[in-house]
Amino acid sequence: MLSKQLEDKKLNIAIIDSNQSFAQKVKIAGGGKCNFTNTNLSSKNFSGDEKFINYVLKHYSKDDFLKFLSDQKIEIRKGKYYFFKNSSNQLISKLKSKNTTYIFNEKVLDIEKVDDIFNIKTSKHTYQAKKLIVASGGESFKNIGASSLALDIAKKFDIQTTPFTPALVPLSLQPDQFWMKKLSGISFNVEISVEGKVLDEDMLFTHKSLSGPVILSTSLYWKKGSISINFIPNQNIDKDILKSNKKISSYLNIPKRFAKEFLEHIDLNDKTCSSLKVDELEKLKTINFYSFAPAGNLGFSKAEVSRGGVDTSEIDETTMMSKKVKNLYFLGEALDVTGELGGYNIQWAISSSYVCSKSIC
Ligand SMILES: Cc1cc2nc3c(=O)[nH]c(=O)nc-3n(C[C@H](O)[C@H](O)[C@H](O)COP(=O)(O)OP(=O)(O)OC[C@H]3O[C@@H](n4cnc5c(N)ncnc54)[C@H](O)[C@@H]3O)c2cc1C
Repeated sequence: MLSKQLEDKKLNIAIIDSNQSFAQKVKIAGGGKCNFTNTNLSSKNFSGDEKFINYVLKHYSKDDFLKFLSDQKIEIRKGKYYFFKNSSNQLISKLKSKNTTYIFNEKVLDIEKVDDIFNIKTSKHTYQAKKLIVASGGESFKNIGASSLALDIAKKFDIQTTPFTPALVPLSLQPDQFWMKKLSGISFNVEISVEGKVLDEDMLFTHKSLSGPVILSTSLYWKKGSISINFIPNQNIDKDILKSNKKISSYLNIPKRFAKEFLEHIDLNDKTCSSLKVDELEKLKTINFYSFAPAGNLGFSKAEVSRGGVDTSEIDETTMMSKKVKNLYFLGEALDVTGELGGYNIQWAISSSYVCSKSIC
């Protein structure tokens, strides 16, 4: 997108990428169909500076992106999340520009600025440029080219950064929660409270972690300490349960296999609801606010994105240029802006590159 706009202005552009072709993450995103944006798009779906994010999303919104795709005749599948109908390759081919020089299989190792020129040292050559745009993403999925390049360049120029940490990643369990391992394969809607955010989506139990959309988004906000899970958001367990003659596991609007494991975990027999004693009811109520601290996450190799990056206080949001270093730009995941699961990160990469290219044009 960036290079296409710049190329239209007859600028001399080169893209250097250590991969053998570009947009590898877009290619594999969303199982090859890339979830590229979301019906509900606002700065509230991101971790990062709200004012900065709002400015960028306002200047290239979901609707602008959809119009671009429609103009390019790329078919999409619209639900809450937007996907490509066929494959992400359709977008990738449209982003490719004829007059851009693509330099693949070269890793950028170091950058220097001498007078007004950037010297870009790669694993094979040194290139020179008047303007340098760092769109090198975060550190997740190193097997497809990810590196800490953005942070290394920023630090070199005394630009503040926040270290990259894995996000949109499954969370691992402490021994106290190992009872959940028996539920591997089950998925259902839950509500999670984490760091003042409330997220409502499906959770998936796996044999060694918690995953699914709600957990991946939780991992974006979770630092350390407890999260609280409401396993039955559509059913508040209170004394009304005592009026029922059903068994507890039948009364709960939740997969029976989960209900039975949960009851065993809180040491409660699956008895008739009306026979629950006061203390037993209190234990059962925790199904609406089950609190525990995850052990950690599954790391960069399983994380769809990296939280952290170049501090946005160092960047002019109207251009994406560094406030300290003229003609040095950062965008996309390289910035300390990270979206929840749901197409927010591709939208962010596209919106921030649009703001940058527009200012350069
Ligand atoms: C498996 C997976 C699935 C995902 N699915 C989705 C999804 O469905 N929806 C969504 O919104 N987001 C998704 N994401 C996240 C999304 O792909 C990224 O947030 C987005 O691609 C970031 O764009 P970017 O241009 O900032 O960086 P990237 O797309 O990461 O591009 C950075 C480029 O820089 C290159 N590079 C890095 N270091 C160097 C170096 N030293 N020298 C030369 N080149 C270098 C890399 O090879 C890479 O091509 C997914 C991510 C993964 C890993």
